[in-house]
Amino acid sequence: MEYIIEPQKNIPVAAETEVLVVGGGPSGFGAALTSARMGRRTMLIEQYGAVGGVATTGIMSHWTGRQGGGLFEEFLFKAGDCECPEVINPEKLKILMLNMLIEAGVTVQLYTWMSDVIKEGNRITGVITESKSGREAIRCKVLIDSTGDGDAAAKAGAPFEKGRSADGGMQPMTIMFKLAGVDMDRAMFFWGFEDTVQLPEGDLQTLSRKELPAPAGHVLLYPSSLPGVVTVNMTNSINADGTNIRDINRAELECRNQMGKIVAFLRHYVPGYEACYICDSSNAVGVRETRRFLAEYQLNEEDIAEARVFDDWVVTKSRFFFDLHNVTGSGLDNDGAYRQFKQEHPYTIPKRCLIPREVEGVILNGRNIGGTHKAHSSYRVMPICMNIGQAAGVIAALSMEKKKDARDLDISLVQEALRAQNVEP
Ligand SMILES: Cc1cc2nc3c(=O)[nH]c(=O)nc-3n(C[C@H](O)[C@H](O)[C@H](O)COP(=O)(O)OP(=O)(O)OC[C@H]3O[C@@H](n4cnc5c(N)ncnc54)[C@H](O)[C@@H]3O)c2cc1C
Repeated sequence: MEYIIEPQKNIPVAAETEVLVVGGGPSGFGAALTSARMGRRTMLIEQYGAVGGVATTGIMSHWTGRQGGGLFEEFLFKAGDCECPEVINPEKLKILMLNMLIEAGVTVQLYTWMSDVIKEGNRITGVITESKSGREAIRCKVLIDSTGDGDAAAKAGAPFEKGRSADGGMQPMTIMFKLAGVDMDRAMFFWGFEDTVQLPEGDLQTLSRKELPAPAGHVLLYPSSLPGVVTVNMTNSINADGTNIRDINRAELECRNQMGKIVAFLRHYVPGYEACYICDSSNAVGVRETRRFLAEYQLNEEDIAEARVFDDWVVTKSRFFFDLHNVTGSGLDNDGAYRQFKQEHPYTIPKRCLIPREVEGVILNGRNIGGTHKAHSSYRVMPICMNIGQAAGVIAALSMEKKKDARDLDISLVQEALRAQNVEP
């Protein structure tokens, strides 16, 4: 590869903060809100023009899984829009989440991309950002990496894994889109890969595998909070790494090209969809899985299936099955568990999963925490990520207050603060 050498230049320090949250998805929102509510000077930067991440800019359909207690329970009460509070109205969330952050005292800076980190030794002390104002620096005492992909921790040199252990294969990418013009009195919905209907022409899921352009080939349709509007989770791009810009571009093009064929298929086969048309789509292809950092502990599938209660729990009352989309095609992966997944008790996530190895001054958050490929397919859902964010916010705020590294913070203090915020096993 050919290289150029960047000339040295002075970069203005645009802001200084105690806690810097990079990324404003469900986990970043939870972290920033909690840190600010605990009285710490908190700033959040986000590349897009809205906070909420996949929940808003990704026009997501619904909060999946179950997350009892803590911030998500409070949030769902505020955000619930219709008879089914789990159904998301992204436009409502864009305003609600932003205003909640501002009211808590968070400095929110949208349209700001974190391109690098500033380090002293192996400690992160700030970031470099790119925006319409050019290249700037922000100094911080603690950084919470809520980028989904773990961009900050990776730039700092924290070790990570990607994909399944056999071949590194990661879950497919998808552009979510919405259909209007659906006859809701007759419309059918398909919440999971195992939901189907027998039509005169055959089984709907089988027909979709035959007729949609591979690797599309499953039917997932969810009601929205708007009349006549349905959210579609059916585009599919495989063998793509969400931290590789060329793969992201290929996935975007592939998914966009599938959309028209999916609409034609639905119009032809599915009752209620005869006159449907696309009225909205996510601005960016949705990435399910990228870096999982090597943390002080890797949450694994047994921990989830057996609902282990860790001594150093920081997230509790989480429930979801192993939602592993097929890494090599459409539908659910053979290793994914859906209907057959029985979980009598909710699981917990320990503080150690949020603490990366080898690098100081950064807390992992959301889908990039330490865990296995299969465990990740469960805790990656947004309600659980929001409460991971709450835990990250508590750890950051207390490490400021006690002047201790997140790694060395007394777990009993963290759990005492979390209990006061309605989080307990
Ligand atoms: C297609 C798809 C369907 C899904 N369906 C569901 C579902 O139905 N229900 C459910 O609960 N979950 C669903 N998920 C999973 C869930 O949405 C994510 O796993 C979850 O949002 C992760 O939360 P997060 O905060 O870690 O990351 P994200 O929501 O991805 O948020 C990360 C944020 O960081 C910002 N960012 C990233 N890098 C940078 C940077 N370098 N500088 C500045 N900002 C940056 C991004 O713009 C984004 O706003 C789905 C995911 C996808 C992709």
